[in-house]
Amino acid sequence: MGNRDNKTDVILIGAGIMSATLGTFLKELVPEWDITVFESLSKPGEESSNEWNNAGTGHAALCELNYTVEKPDGSLDISKAIKINEQFQVSMQFWSYLVKNNLIRNPQEFIMPLPHMSMVQGEENVSFLKKRYEAMSKNPLFEGMEFSDNPEKLSEWIPLIMKERQTNEPIAATKVEYGTDVNFGALTRLLFEHLSAQNVNIQYRHRVNNMKRTSDGLWELKVKNLDSGNVEHHKAKFIFIGGGGGSLPLLQKTRIPESKHIGGFPVSGLFMVCNNPEVVEKHHAKVYGKAKVGAPPMSVPHLDTRFIDNKKSLLFGPFAGFSPKFLKTGSMFDLILSVKPNNVLTMLSAGVKEMALTKYLIQQVLLSKEQRMEELREFIPTAKSEDWDLVVAGQRVQVIKDTEAGGKGTLQFGTEVITSSDGSVAALLGASPGASTAVHVMLEVLSRCFPEHMNEWEVKIKKMIPSFGMSLMDYPELLQEIRQSSEKALGLDKKELILS
Ligand SMILES: Cc1cc2nc3c(=O)[nH]c(=O)nc-3n(C[C@H](O)[C@H](O)[C@H](O)COP(=O)(O)OP(=O)(O)OC[C@H]3O[C@@H](n4cnc5c(N)ncnc54)[C@H](O)[C@@H]3O)c2cc1C
Repeated sequence: MGNRDNKTDVILIGAGIMSATLGTFLKELVPEWDITVFESLSKPGEESSNEWNNAGTGHAALCELNYTVEKPDGSLDISKAIKINEQFQVSMQFWSYLVKNNLIRNPQEFIMPLPHMSMVQGEENVSFLKKRYEAMSKNPLFEGMEFSDNPEKLSEWIPLIMKERQTNEPIAATKVEYGTDVNFGALTRLLFEHLSAQNVNIQYRHRVNNMKRTSDGLWELKVKNLDSGNVEHHKAKFIFIGGGGGSLPLLQKTRIPESKHIGGFPVSGLFMVCNNPEVVEKHHAKVYGKAKVGAPPMSVPHLDTRFIDNKKSLLFGPFAGFSPKFLKTGSMFDLILSVKPNNVLTMLSAGVKEMALTKYLIQQVLLSKEQRMEELREFIPTAKSEDWDLVVAGQRVQVIKDTEAGGKGTLQFGTEVITSSDGSVAALLGASPGASTAVHVMLEVLSRCFPEHMNEWEVKIKKMIPSFGMSLMDYPELLQEIRQSSEKALGLDKKELILS
């Protein structure tokens, strides 16, 4: 048994991009606070934040069609796209601040410029894309977006996708030059290196198994050292549960009222990867298509150029699937053990409502490699099986909760920050838009858990994020300034990319 007097100001559970971001904020705002991190794996950024476990899209709503909805009167609602783009600008400003101040180096290790494109086929879809382009390109946030339904132009933009395409169906695409590919695994590792240099106590191979409130108003965590087998007790004033898919079971252990009536539905993912340089060289973009009818929003197919370890590859997917694990390294009992008396009705209602989704996921799991290749050939008609391998991506645990609009057991596709009423514990659930908006989401954690400090912190936050508290869309000059300054700081303005 460990010592019960291990006391610290802040404990961050999990060494993914979310804890990395929150820890970095806290070290900038209150360097004197002591922070301890517990991570059950032996390195940071090994679960969803790892570069091979997510698609690395810097989600700025430049290409994801599910962020713009056609209203019954035929007009387009782009409010969600605006929100996500502004959230991504917040991330870009924070990362630029870190680079400019030498807190992290070599931005090309984690962010690369890459055009973001949307591509559709069929008359109805082409007319939707054109309407979307007309609505978005007027907005300063999406300035410079191009549209084309001319096959010759498309062959210039996406030669691999257009080669030997035998269809008379209309086809169209939009293109935004200033999109990004983000290696969230590398970014997480850079941030943890920085935190370690700032004397943050990072304990790998330490799994948090339980937590409770103590009579002195602190949180006491029961932590297992996975190497020695010892159980330690650690106390803190503030706990952040950044366990990715593992956050829900930990939140349930807090027993705070806000943790009740919430469930989680795990969705696994698979990508196909191509490392054949001849094929890889023929594509340079992230190209998002439209989700198939009945498919959930996280399975929108896309073909992406990726930059990982100084090497280019192509990624196609994701193919969704079902596994009862909440983490890639989790247990087959995760789902069943998350069912509690307080959420059983919520979970059962979701089970009944989401039969079609469950059926879809099971069908996806059963696809053979050749069937997956057929889906890929809708993007690359000339794709050869021998050039493509399957890789297992991370787990996403979608939140299930009771909502006014959806009723009992409604499946959510976004990110949810849950905090206790006294702000002493916060948890992050859900996975979309995910890592791209980590900075915005962690600012939300700060403002909900430390409202008494926000006035005093605002000046420093504004230094890091000049647009903090503003809607950038309404300040086109500031937007322009921020864009240019982030592009320069992050090396996104360099046309020549140095790759081995
Ligand atoms: C298939 C897929 C594609 C995606 N694509 C994108 C994309 O293109 N762009 C984007 O922005 N986002 C994307 N995301 C989402 C993004 O990856 C996640 O939102 C983000 O990585 C979550 O970070 P995190 O820090 O919350 O969790 P994680 O990175 O999963 O980290 C959680 C950490 O907590 C640890 N942990 C868990 N439980 C415990 C415990 N009890 N004790 C100690 N440690 C614990 C885990 O080991 C893990 O290291 C994608 C996700 C998936 C699965």
